[in-house]
Amino acid sequence: MKTSLRSRWMRLSILIIIGSFIMFSAFLIYATSLYLKDLQYRALDRSAVELKAMYETTAFNTIDEREIYSNLYDNQKFVLYTNSGEEVYRWPSRGMSFNIPREQIIHPDIYSLDFEDMSYLVQTVKIDSEYWNGYIAVVHPMNEYYTILQMIIIIATIIGFMSISITLVISYFMAGQMVRPIYRFTRQLQYVENNGFSERLDLKTNLEEIDYMVLSFNKMMDTLEESFNQQKQFVEDASHELRTPLQIVQGHLNLINRWGKNDKAVLEESLQISIDEMGRITKLIEELLELTKNENEKTNIIDPINLNEEIISRVNAMKQLHPAYTFTLDLDQAIFYPISQYQFEQILVIFLDNAVKYDYINKSIHIKSKLMSNKIKIEISDKGVGIPEEDVNKVFDRFYRVDKSRSRELGGNGLGLSIAKKIIESNEGNVYLESKINEGTTIHIEFPLK
Ligand code: ADP
Repeated sequence: MKTSLRSRWMRLSILIIIGSFIMFSAFLIYATSLYLKDLQYRALDRSAVELKAMYETTAFNTIDEREIYSNLYDNQKFVLYTNSGEEVYRWPSRGMSFNIPREQIIHPDIYSLDFEDMSYLVQTVKIDSEYWNGYIAVVHPMNEYYTILQMIIIIATIIGFMSISITLVISYFMAGQMVRPIYRFTRQLQYVENNGFSERLDLKTNLEEIDYMVLSFNKMMDTLEESFNQQKQFVEDASHELRTPLQIVQGHLNLINRWGKNDKAVLEESLQISIDEMGRITKLIEELLELTKNENEKTNIIDPINLNEEIISRVNAMKQLHPAYTFTLDLDQAIFYPISQYQFEQILVIFLDNAVKYDYINKSIHIKSKLMSNKIKIEISDKGVGIPEEDVNKVFDRFYRVDKSRSRELGGNGLGLSIAKKIIESNEGNVYLESKINEGTTIHIEFPLK
């Protein structure tokens, strides 16, 4: 069931205050009642002891009414009995209209007695002396005790109602104070929702949690905006890249349409160019798909493969494709790493292709592998054109090419290095390059040892 934060907070605080108040008052009333009862017993006992002493030491008929009266407290009453339990005298003579049962008289003790809606405590005592043989009873009314107790309960109830009402009002306002920043937060969220990515929350409260929430939200929006912009840029770049070959194909189809039907030479040339450009488009689309593939689809457990074997087989294939090039190898002992064979081959093809493409003068490519104490290192070096210093950090970016027309001539889309980097990083590896213009380039690939 959904409730508002405010009503939940109020319910909770009322519950707490009622619970703690009931516990506190119950304890207070119980303790006070024990104490008051004890006072009543003591007053009764004191009177009984004193009257007993008086009847034991003084002749019955010489005792004055005033002496009896002075030994009684708090409206207590007194009765004198014979040995057989017959009443002889009572003080005051009126005002006590009940009789104490004989059973209780001849068995001296303290008894409770209820009569006409009133409670009494009765203490009977045996007197056995030369002056008197019999019993006395002191009757102690409990009305004072019950009145005080009743008053305490009434006061506790009044205080209870008052504190609950005050808590209700305070918690209503407090809850309002607490949820206000959340309302403001929600309103701002709606604003951001309507105004798009670039809006940020501007909400300063004096509540740590809310400030932290706002900060986290703004950070999340920064990340989202950045990734949104990257995606947008990517789509723009990709469309731009696709436009050139498509325009070329369109141009040549128009050419064929206009002249090619009669001019065989135009037809041949335009068809060939269109086929080449279509090949380029296909390659570009394949590369785009490769880049946008979800790298989170991690295959469960990959068996380690022998990297050196893969390098040798790739280099042999390259040698056949490019017989004019020299490939030299400097491979360490067998190196195993868990990576899909297809992916490792893809990386090698990208770097070897680049080395071949950009080392068209010396045509000398060197591949080295090394097993180090904590990592595996693979280096692919060429003695080619190199990369200007300011571009070294950019060539791994999507679509980045140092010399756009040269790269296009060589069939590149500027996606190779970013694909390779993505594959290496998704396999927990790391890649960087060193390059000097007109001297050559070295690609460094590192995988952690597992
Ligand atoms: P491309 O398809 O254009 O080769 P890449 O992403 O593979 O795209 O490379 C990006 C750019 O980095 C290239 O355009 C080129 O300028 C530069 N580059 C890559 N490898 C080399 C290399 N071995 N020697 C010189 N420049 C290189």
